[in-house]
Formats: sequence, C-alpha cells, structure tokens
Amino acid sequence: MKRTLLALATTLAVLASADIAAKDATAEAARIHEGALVLDTHLDTPANLRRPGWSIADDHRHEGELSQVDLPRMKAGGLDGGFWVIYTAQGARDDAGKRAARDHGLERLVSIREMLAAHASDMELALTPADAERIASAGRRVSFISMENAAPLASDPSLLEVYHRLGLRMLGITHVRNNEFGDSSTDPAGAEWNGLSPAGRALVEQANRLGIVLDASHASDAVFDQLLELSRAPIVLSHTSADAVYGHPRNIGDARIRQLAAKGGVIHVNAYGGYLVDIPKVPEREAALEALSEKFGPEERLPASRVTAYLSERRAIEARYPVKRATFDDYMSHLLHIIRVAGVDHVGIGADWDGGGGVVGMEDVTALPRITEALLAAGYSEGDVRKIWGGNLLRVLRQVQDASDASAP
Ligand SMILES: [Zn+2]
Repeated sequence: MKRTLLALATTLAVLASADIAAKDATAEAARIHEGALVLDTHLDTPANLRRPGWSIADDHRHEGELSQVDLPRMKAGGLDGGFWVIYTAQGARDDAGKRAARDHGLERLVSIREMLAAHASDMELALTPADAERIASAGRRVSFISMENAAPLASDPSLLEVYHRLGLRMLGITHVRNNEFGDSSTDPAGAEWNGLSPAGRALVEQANRLGIVLDASHASDAVFDQLLELSRAPIVLSHTSADAVYGHPRNIGDARIRQLAAKGGVIHVNAYGGYLVDIPKVPEREAALEALSEKFGPEERLPASRVTAYLSERRAIEARYPVKRATFDDYMSHLLHIIRVAGVDHVGIGADWDGGGGVVGMEDVTALPRITEALLAAGYSEGDVRKIWGGNLLRVLRQVQDASDASAP
C-alpha cells in the first residue's frame, strides 16, 4: 500500500513537472513572440473594407463573421502588421476590362489609405524598414501596401510610379490567370508568354528603379526564373508553400527555393489549405457553393446583416459534402521543410489571411503564437524566430531600396 502510494506520488510529481515544463515553454514562447517584430506579407483584409457594417476596429470572430484580421485580434495574436494587399481578380483583357482593373486597383488603394487615416492612433503607413521599427515600437500596426496581380497597371504601366508615391512597396505579377505581364502557375490555358511578356520585363525594371519588392507568388516557374535573373535586387514569394510536401503548380520546388535563397530572397509560407494538402474536389459541393455565391453575391460585398444567413446555408452544404481540411500540423510541415531547404535567413510568413488562408488549429491571427511555439519546439532559437517573423523581410526591403534609383549617388 505504502509502495503504491509512493509510486502514485512519484507519478504525480513527474506529471506536475511536465506540466510546469509545458507551461514554462508556453510562457517563454509568448515572451519571444511578444518581443519579435511579427509581420505577415499577405493580408487580404482590404477585401473586407467595403463590406457594409464591417470595421477593422471591431473584434470579429472567424466562425460566423468571415473575418480573420482586425485590430483587436492583431493585438491579441501579437501581429505587428504586414502588407495590406491591393488584390484584383483577373478579368477580361480587352480595353473595358483593363479600365475596370485600373479603377478597382485605385479604389482599393484609396480604401487602404482611408482605413489608415481613420485609425491613425492604431496604424500607420510604412514605407521603409526604419518606419516598420519605429511604428511597431510606438505600439501601432505597421502598414505596408502591396499589389497582388498587376492587372491594374495593364492599361498604363507608368501608374506604378503613382502607386509608389502613394505607398506601394511590393508587386506581384499575376494571380490565377495569365495577364499582360506574364504567365500564371495555374492558368488552364497554359503558358502564353513563356514567362514574362515584354511589358512584364519593363515592369521589373521599373519596380527595381522605384525600390518596389517583386513578388513571384502565383506566377509560373518561368516567371520566377526570369524575375530571379532580371531583378537587380532580391525577390520574394509573399505567400507560397512547398511542392515537395504537396505537389501543386501553385507551390514551389526545392531547387527554386535554393536559388531564391542564393540570391538573397525570402519565401513567406502560405496557410491556404488547398495548397497544403490534397483536397479532392466534390462536384456536387462545388455546384452547390456556386449556386450559393450567385444567390448572395461575392463574400466581400456581403453586408454584415446577411452573413449569418449566408453562413448557415454554407455550413449545410459543407456538412452534406464534407471534404478534408488542412491542419496546423500540415502548415508546420510546409514551414519546417522550407526552413530546412532555404535556411532560416530566407523564410517568412504570409498566411493569406482573409484570402482563403487559415487551417484547423490556426483559424485567425490570434493563433499566431502557436507558430512561434512550434518553431522553438523544433529547436529554432529566439534569433531564428525573429528573422522568420520580420527580420528577413525587412532585410530584403532594405536591399531593394538600396538598389533603387532613389539611393543612387
Ligand atoms: Zn493569392
């Protein structure tokens, strides 16, 4: 009896110390996360800015409100800021389509600048790495601006200069279809330019001159190769995952990850479920979701008052035709693989928040400390973690700006 009690006491002591060790690890991760400059290179949240009734200042829930980033949750998740994206869906490429894309891009830029003006005590436009450090240490959110899909520039590429003057510091060439500047990795029609078009090459030159970071996410492998070759400064992938972990044309292979790193670039790892694991398409589900989207219109225009009705119909479809969902572990598999291939100096985070990103166990930005915890558990140091969360990104931005005409003697 005595022996049993002793054994029990020993077991309890071991359990308690394991518990304390786990708590200590969590507390240490929280301290490191809080101390790091935490930036994400792909915040699609500007898509929500025109949603009636939605405000960046309100505390939303992912479940029930179709929103993953706002000021209260950025603070809760220790997200200091990142790149707010001017995203334009690729439409028709005739004159009317080009004008529509031009107008859409300018409107989205205006809505980002309006958001920053309306919440000036909480967020501030960042143009340089020094701005980022200063804004974060003042407790405000670091707000860089990027463009995903250069379609708004198709009618007049010289608009890039205006965008730069108004704050643009990163430029992605394509989205899921080819455009005037180059080939996408996922256009069903295949390659149209065998990489960059002549206009795309000129755009690279212009971005280099202005000090705008070039982003190869979504672009074809040939575009990636040509950007690496042509750009006089390092480039990035703002939200891309590993082809070696899950083979998908939207992901990037290890050889190219090594080439990117060799040229000083950074790959920011995406948390878009369909690019992390194989999720077979269920035709009935696709058809039902399409019908739902026709009934309610695009999510980004959905008034807050209609979200509940929309979501209950969507959840019913999802329950009727369930599909596999990517998890936090799947995300970490991509991230850890990419760190092993690229090295800690060439990896960052771009989780595609409010653009389809987020996985089971990391549904919105409040879960970001989990990444820090998992990196430390995998043996990475505080210094490594700080590079991954923002140090590497700011280094590239500095190199791009140093190589621009503005800093020429
Ligand atoms: Zn994207």
